[in-house]
Amino acid sequence: MGDLEARFPDLMSMDPVMEIVDSPSRMRVLSQELRRSNFLLGLVPTMGALHEGHLSLIRRAVAACPAVVVSIFLNPIQFGPNEDLCSYPRTMERDLEVCRKESVSVVYAPPQEKMYAKDFDTWVEVPSLASGLCGSSRPGHFRGVATVVTKLLAACRPDKAFFGEKDYQQLVLIRRMVRDLDLGVEIVGCPTVREADGIAMSSRNVHLNGDERARAQSLSRGLFQARELLRQGERSSSTLRKMVCEELTRAKAEIDYVEVVAPDTLVPVERVDSPCRILVAAKIGKTRLIDNILLEP
Ligand code: AMP
Repeated sequence: MGDLEARFPDLMSMDPVMEIVDSPSRMRVLSQELRRSNFLLGLVPTMGALHEGHLSLIRRAVAACPAVVVSIFLNPIQFGPNEDLCSYPRTMERDLEVCRKESVSVVYAPPQEKMYAKDFDTWVEVPSLASGLCGSSRPGHFRGVATVVTKLLAACRPDKAFFGEKDYQQLVLIRRMVRDLDLGVEIVGCPTVREADGIAMSSRNVHLNGDERARAQSLSRGLFQARELLRQGERSSSTLRKMVCEELTRAKAEIDYVEVVAPDTLVPVERVDSPCRILVAAKIGKTRLIDNILLEP
């Protein structure tokens, strides 16, 4: 009996259609079978605690691919020693239920020890895209992301993999990694899903108390104000960034960065004369939040 079967016996026995897989070897065999009978296989990698943002990816995948794998794996190697791995929300039972309702074919949820041998020591790095923005305050984070995504792609062998624009630096980095390593999977970027008040949905939002939640709106509000300023004709990145910083400061957010960058290289730009991305990271209380939007002159 697999680890998940032992932990959730009722769910496993109730489930005639959706298979829950907990080992890379079983996943490889199953993906081969699925591809053979369904032609197109989609993968949605997640760390669980699924919300509407994840659901938008899953729905997009189900619409595009006859068979869809959702991976649920809280990846320890992308968390720094002082980060929130221990307090990261875990809702596996609910997540499985959600996936079943969305007609997901397979949930791939390996335990840590099946992903990382004790002497695991092989890494995938994209230094030029991993060093700035979130990479500056989270050293090692993107090498952890690139490594686990490579492993998930190797086990699932999807035709298409779906990633959110919410984690924009991650999306750009994964695209580059897939291109550089000839991984032969189409990376589909999906728009950020927001709460009614503008906050980008995130598993970490559950950590915000009432006051912090209100203050967290400053990230998206600042970004949308910058976009409005651009619409009025402002092209200077520093002016746009300043506006976002002021909004964050008013909300007593601890700013990590506010940057305007070229969309594919993430190199900072001085003027927004072509489509760019404006990205922000800030702490509200103890919770680190990120957001970004497209700036189109
Ligand atoms: P996570 O579980 O946080 O690693 O996220 C798994 C995937 O869901 C990533 O590709 C994220 O970019 C994506 N995602 C997370 N939040 C959102 C959101 N609010 N809108 C769209 N995609 C999201």
